[in-house]
Amino acid sequence: MNLHQAKLDIVEAGRRVYERGFVASNDGNISCRIEEDRILTTPTGMSKGFLKVEDLCITDMDGTLVSGQKRPSSEIGMHIFLYRERPDVRAVVHAHPPTATGFAVAGVPLTMCVLPEVVITLGAIPIVEYGTPGGPEISEPIRQYVKDYDAYLLENHGATTIGSDVMNAYYKMETLEHFAKILFVAQQLGGYNELNAEQVDKLVAIRNRMGLRGPDPACDIPDAPATQSTTNDGIPTIRTLSASDTAQTSQDDLIGEITRRVMEELK
Ligand SMILES: [Zn+2]
Repeated sequence: MNLHQAKLDIVEAGRRVYERGFVASNDGNISCRIEEDRILTTPTGMSKGFLKVEDLCITDMDGTLVSGQKRPSSEIGMHIFLYRERPDVRAVVHAHPPTATGFAVAGVPLTMCVLPEVVITLGAIPIVEYGTPGGPEISEPIRQYVKDYDAYLLENHGATTIGSDVMNAYYKMETLEHFAKILFVAQQLGGYNELNAEQVDKLVAIRNRMGLRGPDPACDIPDAPATQSTTNDGIPTIRTLSASDTAQTSQDDLIGEITRRVMEELK
């Protein structure tokens, strides 16, 4: 890992998360594992939009400052947790992108099979149970997801992505927020059309060929995805709609769908 390049990448990723509104004020933090026992990280209490390379800190794997003029990020513990759990990971980005964070606040995970690029690059994005920011509580709930997922919504907080380098982790944050925005618009327009199992399998095959890892199954494939429709006489009803299947559900499925929708409304 080239230290100078890692510093430039963190400054650049910081500028982008700020410019794109993924953080407000001094929120967010970015780090890179530059050696087995050395983490390059953003400082605490500074906007990520205007960092200079000399603002960055280096800590050991206990979070103790070993180089730099400023104090390391208050979330360094979460970053170190992720590096310990995933030795393949070299960078962590944490931000509060507003649409994805809206899903995290509403308790709605981004696990639907909707966008091919998301299925390939992330599979799905689970919600991690809430933990107080800045302390050890935030890390432990991630443990059950860390081996299979590279992106997490943090309940009532924000999002974290991990990757092979700083820009790889940053791009996952972009993809996560983009997915949330598209899904939100689709929901405003009446619902979303989910990919079916066969279509997802083809995407997983591409993912495997690219050497990417991801959750298995890649994302949630509901038995009876629902969307609003109307009958010939214009009476609103619910029917299944997947990318290749528009068959009417049975009465039992309808009841199940209605129950699911009501439960989703109540979430
Ligand atoms: Zn945060």
